Amino acid sequence: MADAAPAEPWRALFPEASAAEWGDWRWQMRHAVKGVEALSRHVPLTEDERRGCVDTASIFRLGISPYYLSLVDRDHPFCPVRMQAIPTAAEAVARPGELKDPLGEDKNRPVSAIVHKYPDRVLFLALDRCSVYCRHCTRRRITKGGEADLDRAQLRAGIEYVRTHPEVRDVLLSGGDPFLLSDERLEELLAPLREIPHVEMIRVGTRIPVCLPMRVTESLAKLLRRFAPLFVVTHFNHPKEITPEARRACELLVDHGVPVENQAVLMRRVNSSARIIRELNHACLKMRVRPYYLHQMDVAEGLEHLRTPLRAGVEILRQLRGHTSGLAVPHLAVDLPGGGGKVTLQPDYVEERRPTETLFRNYKGEPYSYPEPAETDCSCPYDETWTRKRS
Ligand SMILES: *Cc1c(COP(=O)(O)O)cnc(C)c1O
Repeated sequence: MADAAPAEPWRALFPEASAAEWGDWRWQMRHAVKGVEALSRHVPLTEDERRGCVDTASIFRLGISPYYLSLVDRDHPFCPVRMQAIPTAAEAVARPGELKDPLGEDKNRPVSAIVHKYPDRVLFLALDRCSVYCRHCTRRRITKGGEADLDRAQLRAGIEYVRTHPEVRDVLLSGGDPFLLSDERLEELLAPLREIPHVEMIRVGTRIPVCLPMRVTESLAKLLRRFAPLFVVTHFNHPKEITPEARRACELLVDHGVPVENQAVLMRRVNSSARIIRELNHACLKMRVRPYYLHQMDVAEGLEHLRTPLRAGVEILRQLRGHTSGLAVPHLAVDLPGGGGKVTLQPDYVEERRPTETLFRNYKGEPYSYPEPAETDCSCPYDETWTRKRS
């Protein structure tokens, strides 16, 4: 339990930092731990990790905020925080079938900042930097560096794309991590998007509450609230990440009227158990964060060691549905390799479909029948009237 941890455990790792510096996100970013030498001064690396750092150096960035590093269990190589932040040798090995662009995003990129794959919503890639480079990143072709930050012209082109596509009613800002932008830069992005009449809602995908919670300041929360409806979609993968600092960040957002959702990624030996996912989702709900997706790992280069068999996720959902609050049961999403988009999987409760009834097994395995109604016409007679009155 984070609550049982000694006060300021980071003092041992960063004794030179004052409490004010530690709580300052810019200090945290200036002191991000990069490279195997710096890292091994803070964590006794295993041989596998040392090789991982060296072998992935030319493939993907290594960077860990001091805060997130302070959550690493220095005594256990399978610490879930450690596995998400420190590479192992397996990450440098691309297996047959693994893809650079597993979600087929680049072929759906009309301008550099936009991925437009679904009819009514777009992904807006605002920058290529993160507070921690997740070892399970599937957008590493972008976050590995070298793409450079999008310049103002590219951002303008992204905004212009949304403006000229009236079918886009939902814009999902991601990257990289949009909350690494200053409040001013963020406003420069959000304000013109919010002015577009057909943009009904904005989402921001971010790991800031998990990896750099001190970035969530009151002024950030107030700024975001001005652009409501704006949802923050964050990425907790393990209850160990839900610290008092993370809780403060999420609660500050929600208190200011910014709803927060969580997307977890299922990772072998990191969080691949129903008990852990249940505890994670309960801990999220306790800080008013709604579990949204549980993602099957994408087929990205170097991630096979973290992939679970599809049935593992389905089995986890089976152990949640019915057994705990429905709000604690996320959608299990598989983003199909090659660009097919997300589909969802769930346990199959249907035993048999008959014309007049469907036979089920409930969450306890008990048999039940649901009878079909005699009338099957499902058109809504008021629809035409409603459409007329509304316009
Ligand atoms: C996941 C994703 C979205 C958002 O999907 P939702 O199911 O609406 O959350 C939008 N665009 C892209 C390219 C995505 O990968």
